[in-house]
Amino acid sequence: MASIDKDREWRLLIAGEWVEPDAGTYEIIDPHTTQVMGHAPEASVAQAEAAASAARQASTAWKGLSRGERCAHLARLADVLETESPAWVSLVRAETGATAKIAATLQVGGPFIDRFRYYSRPINLDEALPPLPQGKTGLGPAGLVSAMVHRQPVGVVAAITPYNFPLTNVAGKIAPALAAGNTVVIKPAPQDPLGILMLGEAVKNAGLPDGVVNIITGSGPEAPAALVASRDVDMISFTGSSPVGTQIMRDGAPTMKRLLMELGGKGALVMTEDADVNAACQAIASVWGFHSGQICTAPTRVICHRSIYDKTVETLKMFAGFMKVGDPTADDTIVGPVITEAHRDRVEGFIESGVAAGATLVCGGQRPDLPGYFVAPTLLADCTPDMHVVREEAFGPVVVIMPHDGDDEAVALANQSDYGLFSYVYAGDMKRAYAIGKRLESGNVGLNSIQPHMEAPFGGFKMSGIGRDRGKWGIEAYTEIQSLSWMA
Ligand code: NAD
Repeated sequence: MASIDKDREWRLLIAGEWVEPDAGTYEIIDPHTTQVMGHAPEASVAQAEAAASAARQASTAWKGLSRGERCAHLARLADVLETESPAWVSLVRAETGATAKIAATLQVGGPFIDRFRYYSRPINLDEALPPLPQGKTGLGPAGLVSAMVHRQPVGVVAAITPYNFPLTNVAGKIAPALAAGNTVVIKPAPQDPLGILMLGEAVKNAGLPDGVVNIITGSGPEAPAALVASRDVDMISFTGSSPVGTQIMRDGAPTMKRLLMELGGKGALVMTEDADVNAACQAIASVWGFHSGQICTAPTRVICHRSIYDKTVETLKMFAGFMKVGDPTADDTIVGPVITEAHRDRVEGFIESGVAAGATLVCGGQRPDLPGYFVAPTLLADCTPDMHVVREEAFGPVVVIMPHDGDDEAVALANQSDYGLFSYVYAGDMKRAYAIGKRLESGNVGLNSIQPHMEAPFGGFKMSGIGRDRGKWGIEAYTEIQSLSWMA
């Protein structure tokens, strides 16, 4: 792997220029070594506003391009990323704490570039309505009225993103936003923004016009809050925690911000008495320790029929034993560190609260004797729905399990949550899994599988968000609907 230049001086990208940060820099910590691996620019509020203003100024020309011309820009950016991004793997691995495999395949490779490729295909968003017979009114004579439903870009989109998959999260927002004709300001998570600044270099190398993509970074909420308040920003596309999402809704209300909110999750996995226990446990295990459980779609609430409960607990415990926790740069490591010391302490607090409330610690729960911010895969059995660890998102490798005595109770337990992002059903046959799945209050449901359909609409019910991402829904989210009507 390429070595990391810890002393590199990074800048903000505003109006096509690399700009010195007004407020100095802050340290980026590698969660494995716990050492400083770089210094990120600290944008001032004035610089956040300047980035929004630059995006506004670039907006007219960018939305004036044909969809084909914009798509050509995105295709060129995808080409540049194919060439340049493999060299970013070490940097992104170190700042995210990802294992080497995840860094190469999911942080920097794969879906990150795929999003730009996907939205570089021109997608027709306009739709003609069938002519509507209309009687004579005070507004005109009788006849047929035709209408076209046209989608305009919203204007300027601020993409505010979380730390777990910095590049993929940003790509999932800016690729459709740009394709639809918006200009953007990116504000990545404080913990791991350096890969996003590399993306800024790729944007410049691909020749996108100045000001179409702007990037500000910072450690606190002031700069992104300035984007939320700015009259130069029309829409906030936010992925992150539900508390910050609600704060953004409040702060965006005075300027009537358009919102796409991809928030937290506490995924239920319902197992019927005839479920394939091994397959269900394998599915849970594959996400349990994956990126140290910092996955919004993970099935962390297992709701298991009482008749297979003990077997499921034992099988999950066995799978946990196979997950090697440790050095994320080693090829055989499954569970690396969580992002920060504060987050490790928070996840441990969840586990302690569960045990204090009467849950049984089946495995994990002890801090691994390693230098980084590690949490071992932890299973809490005998949980009840009122427990904090059952209700709230730990965003770490913590799974809870509860028994049920039939489908109705399983559905009620699964829906007894403020969240509704991604849930799962494991049942003996697909007809039953489908029937249960349709009763779950969850934007996405996996049936005997945890493999998502990457072009299906993605988003949350309840506190898990507003709006839908991916596929044609992803691009529609970044548009305003306009009706144009005339007498046929
Ligand atoms: P977070 O909410 O702490 O931070 C997300 C972003 O919000 C950061 O860029 C942060 O700087 C910014 N921010 C903080 N305060 C702000 C304010 N007042 N105004 C505007 N922006 C502000 O989230 P996190 O800890 O980085 O990420 C973990 C969370 O993200 C989890 O809840 C997880 O479920 C969620 N997540 C959801 C999805 C999804 O698709 N639904 C995907 C990934 C992560």
